[in-house]
Amino acid sequence: MEQSAQSALLLYSCEKNNFGNASSVHWAGRKVKSVVDDARESLAHCLGLSDPNEICFTGSATEAINTALKGFFFHHFQSQKVRFLTSAVEHEATLQTLEFLQTLGATVEVLPVNAKGELDLEQWEKALAASKELTLVSLMAANNETGVIFPWEEVAKLAKRHQAFFHLDAVQAPGKISQFHLSQEVDFASFSAHKMGGPKGVGALVIRKGRTLASLMHGGAQERKRRAGTVNVPGIAAFGAAAAALPKRDLSKILELRNYLEKSVREKISGSHLQGEGAQRLANTSNFLFDGVRGEALLMGLDLEGYAVSSGSACNSGSILPSHVLLAMGFDKAAASSALRVSLGPDNTREEIEGFLEALVSQVERIRVRGKKSSSITA
Ligand code: PLP
Repeated sequence: MEQSAQSALLLYSCEKNNFGNASSVHWAGRKVKSVVDDARESLAHCLGLSDPNEICFTGSATEAINTALKGFFFHHFQSQKVRFLTSAVEHEATLQTLEFLQTLGATVEVLPVNAKGELDLEQWEKALAASKELTLVSLMAANNETGVIFPWEEVAKLAKRHQAFFHLDAVQAPGKISQFHLSQEVDFASFSAHKMGGPKGVGALVIRKGRTLASLMHGGAQERKRRAGTVNVPGIAAFGAAAAALPKRDLSKILELRNYLEKSVREKISGSHLQGEGAQRLANTSNFLFDGVRGEALLMGLDLEGYAVSSGSACNSGSILPSHVLLAMGFDKAAASSALRVSLGPDNTREEIEGFLEALVSQVERIRVRGKKSSSITA
């Protein structure tokens, strides 16, 4: 976590005079309310929003995405048919929410990606033009497994041209795409503090002025009646501190390390394949497949050596399901279960990459040799 975010988290969790509830009218409440307001301003500034009140704090990006999609459906479904357009490689927070809304009568159309994980803008334009139903497009700014960046600004413009609304799952963008700001055509956008140098368990939903969503939580007037419940003051204060520090992050250093890692893997490990190669990608994410190596075995081997990497999507770890992202890119189940995703942070160093490469080379070799032995025993 970003140093200033850590300090804010501690200050508003433990410090004696910061015990207030931001909804209380007494001095202690007012004191922490101003902390929440400051955090809202810092985040608004970081995202290029002129009105901080467009930000509604949530408990995670998953909650923000659920609120955007369900809130849109519940607000409109009694008066008209509601349709959602999305991509096959969205986070499960989007895909599973839309599956649920489909059972309630929503039309859901899921558009494919190509073998590099990219979108086809013509297909999106056609899908937008094909129906007069009230439509909400939900698209990620960048894919969390491959790092492939989507042309979300263009899709948002297309959506506007066809009178559709646009929700951006922007979780992977701030701090990983340089100069990321929300464009005017984005109606709703979801964020996660822990992907921006803040703590886990805090998120934000941007609801642009004049757009309405039904609230999912009832029982309080917090967050301008958009999300009832006492707000997480330490988490929000830390989110604000992380957002204030984010524009200073030097992306070129992370990009240089990522490029070095990818080049070295290509040179040192035969039968290695980088996903999304040639597509526009995030500065910090690399997704590899290694011939003859199960991702799970590799992940466990690297874990024993002290490296925290993921196979497939980290949000799905604990499950051994093949990655739906790689399946959508055309890989079979075996390949889609074998991915290794490496995400670099702002503090990683060249020495750490060298150590990681050494461990990776030896683990891939070990697994391949073991695989050969067991196949010769079986034969
Ligand atoms: N969307 C994307 C693209 C993500 O990468 C993630 C988590 O990594 C989420 C949504 C969910 O975020 P959260 O963990 O805050 O619920």
